[in-house]
Amino acid sequence: MQQQQQAVRSQASRRPNVLILLLLALLVAAALTVYSFRDTIFAYWDAPPVDTPVEEPPVDTPVAPVEEPPGSDPVDAEPPAAEEPPTVEEPPAVEKPPAAENPAADPPAAVRQLANGDDLLALVTKETSLGKYEPTDLVTIPAEMGLYDTRYQLRAEAYQQLRAMWEEARDAGVDFYVTSAYRSYATQKRLFNNYAAKHGEKAANKFSARPGQSEHQLGTTVDLAVPGHVLASSFGGTTPGRWLAENAYRYGFIMSYPEGSTGITGYIYEPWHFRYIGVEHAAACRESGLILCQYLEQQPQQWQ
Ligand SMILES: [Zn+2]
Repeated sequence: MQQQQQAVRSQASRRPNVLILLLLALLVAAALTVYSFRDTIFAYWDAPPVDTPVEEPPVDTPVAPVEEPPGSDPVDAEPPAAEEPPTVEEPPAVEKPPAAENPAADPPAAVRQLANGDDLLALVTKETSLGKYEPTDLVTIPAEMGLYDTRYQLRAEAYQQLRAMWEEARDAGVDFYVTSAYRSYATQKRLFNNYAAKHGEKAANKFSARPGQSEHQLGTTVDLAVPGHVLASSFGGTTPGRWLAENAYRYGFIMSYPEGSTGITGYIYEPWHFRYIGVEHAAACRESGLILCQYLEQQPQQWQ
């Protein structure tokens, strides 16, 4: 009896051992399989995580810092200004499709083409175009007059008058700074397309010009600001903003888009945007009580 029982026991205790051996063999086989195909397997697993982190930083890092300064600069802009008015006025975000369809944003072909961008009285509106006009007498505005590191340019005469105005204001305890000046056709095109992509083309059209239709392309126009009031309607309420509204004409500068003129100009109130048209014409324009574009419409224009 005892021997029989022992035999049964040893048989029973042997079975689990066999199972364990089988399992171990399977594990070893699986491990060997994984090991031999490790390249293929890890290529799948590793590729996405490894590639993504490696690629993103290099791309983002250089782009962001580089774009930011220009954003405030190239400007026409009106990044900040863009935020308020458009958002309020353009609830219908329905305009987005056209923006996407027509990212080129070139001005309508029907607009009148100006023949001479050098003319200080050239009528630059949404119904006219400078084409790809480029000034030939640009000078660089000194860093001390700028709000940002970006250096801007103006045509020589406009700069001299801006400098005189800036110094006299400073002597009177009034400080303001340049946040944008000359912008090329190409710069304006990039800027407008960025705004159109973000806000829709129709909204962008109210605070930014299409290429060929910006007074900044003339090289006689500046955006002025103080910290905290950059491209913002609030600038008009600051001491420098009020000083400029009252005195800029004495140096030949006119606020192109004053408050309440949107129906005439097509642009929002831009108390920061001043265009040089010469001291005599600036005085006459102010005397007339006309908006700048209305005044210029009465002046001889050179069309192509
Ligand atoms: Zn401007």
